[in-house]
Amino acid sequence: MSTILEAGVFPKLLNVDANINAIIIGLITVGLVTILTVMSYSFEDISRRHKNRSYDIILGLTEGAVVVISMILVQHIFKALNAGSSTNWFYATTQMTLLLYSLYTMQNTVIEFVNIIAPLYIFGHHLFEGDTSYNVIFILALIAMAVTVIYIAHNKNNLLNDEWKYMALQIIYGGIWWMIIWPIYRFSPIKTIYILIGFIIYMSLIRFVAKWIRNSFNDYNNLSEKVNYDELTGVRNRANFDEVSTEVFKVYSKDKDIPLTVAMFDIDHFKKFNDNYGHMTGDKVLSYVASSFEHQLFQKTTRGQLFRYGGEEFIIIFRGLTDNESVKIIKDIRHHILDDPLEYNGESLTIRISFGISQLQPADRNFNDLFKRVDHYLYESKESGRNRITVEDETFTFN
Ligand code: GH3
Ligand code: MG
Ligand code: MG
Repeated sequence: MSTILEAGVFPKLLNVDANINAIIIGLITVGLVTILTVMSYSFEDISRRHKNRSYDIILGLTEGAVVVISMILVQHIFKALNAGSSTNWFYATTQMTLLLYSLYTMQNTVIEFVNIIAPLYIFGHHLFEGDTSYNVIFILALIAMAVTVIYIAHNKNNLLNDEWKYMALQIIYGGIWWMIIWPIYRFSPIKTIYILIGFIIYMSLIRFVAKWIRNSFNDYNNLSEKVNYDELTGVRNRANFDEVSTEVFKVYSKDKDIPLTVAMFDIDHFKKFNDNYGHMTGDKVLSYVASSFEHQLFQKTTRGQLFRYGGEEFIIIFRGLTDNESVKIIKDIRHHILDDPLEYNGESLTIRISFGISQLQPADRNFNDLFKRVDHYLYESKESGRNRITVEDETFTFN
């Protein structure tokens, strides 16, 4: 490239080398930011689905590792482009952008740690070299950096929604970095201001992209919530039940040793709540029954999934539990509801429920064979006087 320049092909006022380098670094930054974005959102999605702590730890460490690798990569690319030197304001801006961007997009403490420790990693070797006043500045800057990073990490949504606060925090964050770099590479004050402005423009563009991506991601999540969850009670809906039941049958019909049980229940004389207290109270009764079951199920087992099948009818799929094990859990939950009744105008509402329960049999050809049995058992509970439970064709009153 420099030979072309020397040959005078391009006018002297265009520093072609520097511009090409800037384009390369710009593209690399965009590429890395895209990777960090995709990773951060897909990890968030995985974490939301699994709700598992060890998953979160592994995902957090992976994100941290990718950010660190990106920093090292940028450093090496800069060295290659600048004949072995990485002391360049553009380089510093790129690193700051990646660090701050990851802090805004990733929900994990590893990234906070990486941000706090980065100055030590990059400039720590200048400690105790030459000018001792540098040590004092460096340590003060590290403390300021830690405070700023922790503040940003814990207020990021607030900051992303408030342009002025976001800008202020960028200036503080950028300022601390220059406080660290300045004693080593004394840029002129004017140049420092240019660099800060450059950084702010860079980060503002990134904030725009980050907000746009976050909103699209949230829209997508809300949409899938709406499709799978019942609006009134918040539990899974009929559509989700149809999907899950087919999947569950595929898995459990293959392995005859692992049981699968389905329970269906229906609130007794539910219509009376609507008729006597109004539709709103009817809705409250539904939400109360759904949330009590959901909450108690969650406390007692990880194997039960509750669905609102329609109206005042619900279904629980118990994976890996026998009919008798499931009956025990249901009786416990029923007791809990009786012990802690729903109040209406100072009056305790008595809610009675009928149940039908059956376990998957080797002869069941599809989920519907099991489902028809459960439905029939629920009907038997109703027919024999309600407030009963029918398990494999045997009806019991509650004691
Ligand atoms: P049974 O003991 O035989 O189950 O009698 P029931 O009154 O519970 O059953 P029925 O099927 O006669 O009535 C169910 C009522 O539930 C009818 C319907 O208006 C009401 N319902 C269905 N969905 C909702 C809802 O989302 N909110 C309210 N408030 N009522 C609902
Ligand atoms: Mg009913
Ligand atoms: Mg009904």
